[in-house]
Amino acid sequence: MLGSTGSIGTSTLDVIARHRDRFEVYALAAHSSVDTLLSQCLEFAPRYAVMMDEDAATLLRSQLPAHSCTEVLQGESGLAAVVTAAEVEVVMAAIVGAAGLPSTLAAAQAGKTVLLANKESLVMGGHLLMQAVRESGARLLPIDSEHNAIFQCMPVDAQATPSDKGVSKVLLTASGGPFRRWTHAQMVAATPDQACAHPNWSMGRKISVDSASLMNKGLEFIEACWIFDLAPQRVDVVVHPQSIIHSMVQYLDGSVLAQLGNPDMRTAIAYGLGWPERLESGVPPLDLIATARLDFESPDEARFPCLRLAREAVAAGGTSMAVCNAANEVAVEAFLDEQIRFTDIPAVIEHTLEHVDNLEPVNLSVIEAADTQARQVASRFLANLQQTVGALGRV
Ligand code: NAD
Ligand code: MG
Repeated sequence: MLGSTGSIGTSTLDVIARHRDRFEVYALAAHSSVDTLLSQCLEFAPRYAVMMDEDAATLLRSQLPAHSCTEVLQGESGLAAVVTAAEVEVVMAAIVGAAGLPSTLAAAQAGKTVLLANKESLVMGGHLLMQAVRESGARLLPIDSEHNAIFQCMPVDAQATPSDKGVSKVLLTASGGPFRRWTHAQMVAATPDQACAHPNWSMGRKISVDSASLMNKGLEFIEACWIFDLAPQRVDVVVHPQSIIHSMVQYLDGSVLAQLGNPDMRTAIAYGLGWPERLESGVPPLDLIATARLDFESPDEARFPCLRLAREAVAAGGTSMAVCNAANEVAVEAFLDEQIRFTDIPAVIEHTLEHVDNLEPVNLSVIEAADTQARQVASRFLANLQQTVGALGRV
């Protein structure tokens, strides 16, 4: 369980707790939330707990009871050790952001069943990750609700080559986020708490901001192209404010298959954990009468430029997608720290994409170098923005 203390991590442990006879937790990993990881260790008794932060690892070690069976490891080497361990069959990749790439890739290279929530790793290193899956015989099961829905609506065993099985398009649904009806002027003044108040889903703060800017859909657009081996023109985005249809697959004969359910990640998580069987997840059954309506509209790329920027990054190929992701992470963090405005996020990404070289992503070092360079360019641009914003009397 990588990212066990987060939103996906705690939902995953909730599902696992319902099926103690079926799953044993080998390792739990998180960045620095000692209290949450400690209580998870006490409940699930993993063989290992991994903390990225050194002080947090020391603190956790000192707080575990003397008779505990859990050994505390630290850092990237700790993550690598647990994801490649022979005892491990399934790795839940639920670290947030680019930080998840090395461990997700290591799990894929080790031939594990990878439950992929950490979409940023696929956006950055899609080519490498999919190649690792093919070469090692690993299985990648998408946990992102849209891709999980698409996976469920694809012909059996056709996830990797859908064009041969009569699939014409994938229709990726988007809630539209909390600012779906906001004007640009309103979004200029949006606060982090307003951006994180998603109408349908409860999620970590980074992905919540991505949902508000529609960059989440941009990242998911890239994710869909990689997972299902689709050309970008075969992925359409449809705004569906109720978030009941989690995505659809359109076939050559005019059929459209959709997966519906309440917006609760435990459905996708249980599907990944149980596949090809179905597991009880704790999600209440869908009440269609209470739902009553399913609405659809086109995304407004003028008010939400992040979707266009993600499309442009796919079209450019190479390390552009990693650059787009890194610039977005820098911008979202600055917005959450109230250093820039919400509407500055796409400006930071666009500037960074224009000023970082696009390279062939032949290995992890090239991708990490592009990520580092993009963070530097984005941070410099941010510093200039902050001066301008400061001069305007805004913080
Ligand atoms: P979160 O912020 O709630 O949790 C993030 C987890 O990652 C925490 O356990 C944290 O300790 C850990 N972490 C952070 N930085 C780390 C680092 N450097 N090294 C190791 N661990 C680190 O995030 P979340 O909402 O659970 O999202 C996790 C991932 O799942 C993201 O990639 C997100 O896009 C994806 N996802 C989330 C949802 C959702 O509903 N929350 C839905 C679809 C996809
Ligand atoms: Mg999603």
